[in-house]
Amino acid sequence: MIKKMFALSTVLSGILLISGCSQKKEASDINMTSQTRDVFAMDTFMNMKAYGQNADIALSEAEKRILQLEEELSVTNETSDIWKIDHSDGKLVEVSDDTAIIINKAIEMGDRTGGALDITLYPVLKEWGFTTGDHKIPGEQTLKRLLENVDYSKVNIDGDTVSLPEDVEIDLGALAKGYTGDEIMKSMAGNGISSAIVSLGGNVQALGTKPDGSNWKVAVRDPFAPDTDMCIIEIADKAVITSGNYERYFTADDGSVYWHILDPADGYPADNGLVSVTVIGDCGLDCDALSTALFVAGYDGARKLLKSDPSFDLILVSDDHRIYYTEGIADCFTNISSMEAEVISLD
Ligand code: ADP
Ligand code: MG
Repeated sequence: MIKKMFALSTVLSGILLISGCSQKKEASDINMTSQTRDVFAMDTFMNMKAYGQNADIALSEAEKRILQLEEELSVTNETSDIWKIDHSDGKLVEVSDDTAIIINKAIEMGDRTGGALDITLYPVLKEWGFTTGDHKIPGEQTLKRLLENVDYSKVNIDGDTVSLPEDVEIDLGALAKGYTGDEIMKSMAGNGISSAIVSLGGNVQALGTKPDGSNWKVAVRDPFAPDTDMCIIEIADKAVITSGNYERYFTADDGSVYWHILDPADGYPADNGLVSVTVIGDCGLDCDALSTALFVAGYDGARKLLKSDPSFDLILVSDDHRIYYTEGIADCFTNISSMEAEVISLD
């Protein structure tokens, strides 16, 4: 329920806080009408807004694509690719191109983040009850035993054929919504839409600019007060994807809070100094993979990755209430919180 509430408020942030600046467009573009569509899929409230005459058809096509991806990627649906992989007992499984693309990306990002992203954590996530909502703190011995089978390099993929050793199971929850956002954008563009914005839980993705040529304004939640906004970022044609410790969590009897992003190093909720990671870039799939991975990797890990690959921007919030953002978004980032914000130095 908590997740659903936050997801819905992200929708409002993503869609309502839209106004803008720059670039003139024709009057006919400016007067374009918009249509919206709500979809509940992938355990998330999704809201889409598209402008133009074809908006209704485009939204229906995008909705179909979301439902198709949910069918393929769900870890609990017995006909999904992921279910088949997880119940294959070591045999080869033929998967869709979508599933293969995401698995390949997960392996690549696992490599690039020193294993911070690991899709084989699924049995550990199940033990914590994050998959069912029946939360519990696993015992040390149980975690140790389960971690023996956590290693994304054991995932074999060749074209559209996947195999896993027995006892290894995967889940693509860390990347699926980012890929879905990319596919929605492709579907919209294919249906003649040049201006659209979608919010899939904490993920906002925009196609083009607003019809008047101005940038979309997207709010990022304050992780310490998730019903308020922390900053506004202006974007066009980009994904803004956040992973935070406030998105899905439980509080134990002793008051300790445990969240759904786990550190593959020890199987516990990742606690490496960051409470929220927002990744801004061209590709939703990459941004989603990175938001989860960098939440695990922490500030130093994020900075290290940025140095080797400056193709994305970041907004990090540390557990001591500071905001760090990349130089690349300095002109389109507005801090509306009481926290101090500073640029991440790469020197
Ligand atoms: P959300 O899906 O809540 O927006 P994320 O994109 O960060 O947030 O994905 C979190 C999900 O990824 C978890 O619910 C879990 O299924 C999975 N997960 C958790 N920790 C990891 C990890 N270190 N590597 C890969 N997947 C993870
Ligand atoms: Mg993610």
